[in-house]
Amino acid sequence: MAQETRDPSQLLQDVFGYATFRPHQREAIEHLLSGQDALVIMPTGGGKSLCYQIPALVKEGVALVISPLIALMKDQVEALRTNGISAYAINSTLDSSEKVHIHEEIGKGKVKLLYVSPEKVMTPPFLEYLSTLPLSLIAIDEAHCVSMWGNDFRPEYAQLSGMIQRLPDIPVIALTATADPATQTDIVKQLGLRNASLFLGSFARENLHIEVQPATQRMNRILRFLNDHGDQPGIVYCLSRKSTERVAEQLRKEGYHAAHYHAKMDRQERDRVQEDFQRDNIQIICATIAFGMGIDKSNIRWIIHYNLPKNIESYYQEIGRAGRDGVQANTLLFAGFGDVMTYRMMISDSESPESFKEVQIQKLDRMFSYSQATSCRTNAILSYFGESRHQPCGHCDRCDHPVSSFDGTQIAQIALSAVARVKETVGMQLLVDILRGAGTREIRDGGFDRVKTYGAGRAHSRDHWVQYITQLIDRGLVSIDYTEYGHLKMTSIGQDVLFGRESVSLTKPENYKEKKPREKLKKETSRQAFRRELLVSVSLWRKKRADQEGISPAHLLSDATIAALVEGPTMFIGQLEEIPGFSAHKRQLYGKEIIQAIRSYCNGQEWIKSFKGATYLETLDYLHAGVSLQEIIHARGLGQETLYGHLAWLVEQGEELDISSHFTGDEQSVIISKWLELGQPESLNTVIQHLPEGTGYGKIKLAIAVWYRAQKEDVMIN
Ligand code: ADP
Ligand code: ZN
Repeated sequence: MAQETRDPSQLLQDVFGYATFRPHQREAIEHLLSGQDALVIMPTGGGKSLCYQIPALVKEGVALVISPLIALMKDQVEALRTNGISAYAINSTLDSSEKVHIHEEIGKGKVKLLYVSPEKVMTPPFLEYLSTLPLSLIAIDEAHCVSMWGNDFRPEYAQLSGMIQRLPDIPVIALTATADPATQTDIVKQLGLRNASLFLGSFARENLHIEVQPATQRMNRILRFLNDHGDQPGIVYCLSRKSTERVAEQLRKEGYHAAHYHAKMDRQERDRVQEDFQRDNIQIICATIAFGMGIDKSNIRWIIHYNLPKNIESYYQEIGRAGRDGVQANTLLFAGFGDVMTYRMMISDSESPESFKEVQIQKLDRMFSYSQATSCRTNAILSYFGESRHQPCGHCDRCDHPVSSFDGTQIAQIALSAVARVKETVGMQLLVDILRGAGTREIRDGGFDRVKTYGAGRAHSRDHWVQYITQLIDRGLVSIDYTEYGHLKMTSIGQDVLFGRESVSLTKPENYKEKKPREKLKKETSRQAFRRELLVSVSLWRKKRADQEGISPAHLLSDATIAALVEGPTMFIGQLEEIPGFSAHKRQLYGKEIIQAIRSYCNGQEWIKSFKGATYLETLDYLHAGVSLQEIIHARGLGQETLYGHLAWLVEQGEELDISSHFTGDEQSVIISKWLELGQPESLNTVIQHLPEGTGYGKIKLAIAVWYRAQKEDVMIN
């Protein structure tokens, strides 16, 4: 497409449909445009892509984008094309005629962005080819792959510095979501970036709601959580392959469209599942962490961790995959001590050096502590990444329902005394059974029904005991012996509490059955209900349209865009310019259709009468039905001037009206020439005085609206 403008802000508006830059985007773009290298670090969903896509549009030539996975490339290319940008990906799946076509298009100077894998780019023929291209810039996505410090080291990335050296005049931008300083410095070094400036975004993600629940009755809890998430896309992360299959199966039984995904499935099957998720054909993926790196789905609305992640980095990266479009997304972590034991075992059985194992265990312990945190979760994560913030976030479970503590000494003593009486030979589950007097075979066989504390904790539920003992572990009253089947041992602080020398405060266990999400407490107004239904109907339209075009629904229009459409709701073409993400290209392709879809849904709705555009809409209906102005005036009881005002408003909103029978070209030119002669005054009073007797305000407004519209279309045609 011909770029009329080269101004970054204008491109942001016209090509991407956004009114303002996010933090650091403008600075990074300007830096790159001044010919210098940059390292951009922003969380997932922070908006890194625009930092090189806009410079690619501003500059002559083609931008080379290095990306590690074919799926990611395909996705980015698809997203760019829905905004009318010429982009291609070169990878091993292309046949030779497709390759020839791409080379031809590049040869014609039409292509703005070219995505290539690092393996491909470093082959001698490709390097040779590169040197013949008019390159505008080089972008290196997922740049942490170049560093051994990052968590995804890829040897092919390590060779990229050779290419960069061969192209000394081309600015390079490296992008990643990996935050830690060691990796940052290493990226600059390994790639050989020249005087690179760092653009470091905050890691706070305001649209993510964070929640942690105990890992008991997980399936029930999941179903409850899903009650609030209708048919929105989401991921359940599981530790084992088996649980991905089992959870998916259970969800299917409950009527959800769920599939599993793990590394042992064959490649084709995995690709199919991923593609179906991307296209909204599958709602829920139950996956091991093998799933995620290759997907760029912006409208993942929720993430559940069925198991504890192994460290906070992984956790934050995984939940970060939700809500990349900036729309509200929810996350739920199940925190249980069993997972800590499993990881401990995996770590100690691994072949890694001891020092590495120690670091892993420390990180695991931090993760567990986080899950037990009693204050703001977001702040706990940010402080882990070295960002300090004092204000509570307002979008985590701790901010929603601050914990209430109580003197838990007595409860702790019951548990501690049981630990002592069974001579520290049982793990958590059995201890709970003993406290509850469960009478299981294991208890009888072990003779535990004869210990004095047997059944001493009947007053509390199983669920609550698990939570209390987990707190005792986190507070250091009890430790776990990993070398001895995870048996619980009493610490010296535990002894102090048991013998009444110290007291301990515990937090009230969460009773998930009693907990109601906040929003649910408020009653939905009819207008809100209407919006919710309209959202569903617009989403269905999007899905159908995306399927016709063979693209992802979220690429066609993002969830944020759809939410904005429904808000008003948007009923006129002209209003689409104000909708974030509704780029000029998309307005042209889908504008009329979507407006039709919304109008037909709204038609006949009671509340539509109070909608601010309703009166114009009614006039429009009459006009479309071929009713004359006089008849409309009569039927609606409106004055003539008011009705002309309506016509003016509709013309301004981009409606295509045939006004020739109500308004002659002569009238138009008389009014406009006077108006121009007077210097386009705002006040119509000034104009009316100079016009022939009987020309009303309505007609003047209409003439001016027609004039502006013509100006605008003229600009568009050029
Ligand atoms: P990242 O690569 O950092 O994970 P993306 O570049 O994919 O993030 O951007 C995430 C989402 O935010 C995309 O849907 C993108 O269109 C949107 N976005 C980017 N910049 C802006 C902006 N300035 N205003 C509104 N939305 C934006
Ligand atoms: Zn919080």
